[in-house]
Amino acid sequence: MQTQILGLVTPLMALFFAATFVVFWRVGRLKRHVLGFGIAYALSAVGFLITHFSPGDAVYVFHATQLFYALGSIVLLASVCERAGKPLHLPSMAVVYVITALTMGLAVSFSNDVGPRLVIVNMGYGVMFAMGVTTLLSARRRDAFDIAIIAIMAFQTADFLVRPSLTLLFERSIPAEVYRDSIYYSLIGLVLGVKGVTTGMVLIGAAIAEWTAALRENSERDPLSGLRNRGSFEQSIRALLSRAQTEGRPLSLVVADIDHFKQVNDIWGHQAGDQAISNIGRLIDEMIREGDTAGRIGGEEFCIAIWNCENDPALRLAERIRLAFMDIQHSGLSEDIRLTASFGVATAREGESYEKLFARADTALYMAKSNGRNRVENAGERRREEAVPDQEAKPVELNRAAAG
Ligand code: GH3
Ligand code: MG
Ligand code: MG
Repeated sequence: MQTQILGLVTPLMALFFAATFVVFWRVGRLKRHVLGFGIAYALSAVGFLITHFSPGDAVYVFHATQLFYALGSIVLLASVCERAGKPLHLPSMAVVYVITALTMGLAVSFSNDVGPRLVIVNMGYGVMFAMGVTTLLSARRRDAFDIAIIAIMAFQTADFLVRPSLTLLFERSIPAEVYRDSIYYSLIGLVLGVKGVTTGMVLIGAAIAEWTAALRENSERDPLSGLRNRGSFEQSIRALLSRAQTEGRPLSLVVADIDHFKQVNDIWGHQAGDQAISNIGRLIDEMIREGDTAGRIGGEEFCIAIWNCENDPALRLAERIRLAFMDIQHSGLSEDIRLTASFGVATAREGESYEKLFARADTALYMAKSNGRNRVENAGERRREEAVPDQEAKPVELNRAAAG
């Protein structure tokens, strides 16, 4: 009775972890790999339950448990690899599974000793985990949880490859009928429990870290444009600016503002205007590099901090964004209407504060507006003609797309 209850501890623990991961995934809207952790634990729980409830010497038990443990292991490894951004090679996993299952089938038919079968299946898991660890090691990302996950998977690899042979050194042969009474069997319950809990704790830690990161990320994003909100952009550019100054790297700032946006709202409605804001947000995000940072700092005003970028390439980037924006057909607007935007560019001077840099870029934007809009102006550059500030309301000046 006592052993019966004790034997249920491991599957119940696995089901508890499975449920935890599924809840985390749902409630936190976390990525698919967290659901994968849950499925892996659920599959292992099924494996544990089969072992627990089936007669100890039935041959099918080995195959059935191997199937569920192998599926659980593959889903677990695929999920941790997906988390690290490196897909696991599933066909190799299938090959390892099939070879192990066939070899085990042979061992079962030739001998009543469970020792060889145990070594074979565990070798199979060991090879699978080794492949998982190799994949994880090839990933670029290495935060504390990445390292903890690699360590725990390496520990599992070593356990699968070494433990069965070591245990069998003490217990030379285990006839199938007495398998349940063997040292091996009592040890395996303990080992699976310890491995299940430690792996589960590390993965729960990683999932919590992803959850908090997602919450922070959401609070920093402007939902309409998908770019950073003003507060987050300013925090980010201040950090970049001080890094640029200590490392002696150039940093440029682009300020953009959609032209005649009020008329877009007036003519086509606020929703169409929102769509245009969302489109330019996506465009900017696609056109900048990973180290750059962009934000929506006002209604239809955007800022881009371009890391490690001199003035000329910053001007060219602004020009590319201007041209690309002119190409977009916005839903909700007449088909032949194209929106335009004006841009101001400034490159940080030595020791310059964000306020001063922004003020220069904003002045350049003002110049672009007063020079006729739909253009890029550079801070510090002398304008060729005098600025003609167009204060009075103008008739609709939105661009009609060229026919054809
Ligand atoms: P200019 O070419 O000089 O930039 O003219 P403009 O009409 O774009 O400039 P103005 O600053 O006068 O108008 C900005 C408009 O942007 C006013 C406001 O109704 C609109 N706006 C601000 N935030 C949003 C938003 O989130 N969604 C939509 N649809 N419109 C917005
Ligand atoms: Mg505007
Ligand atoms: Mg504006």
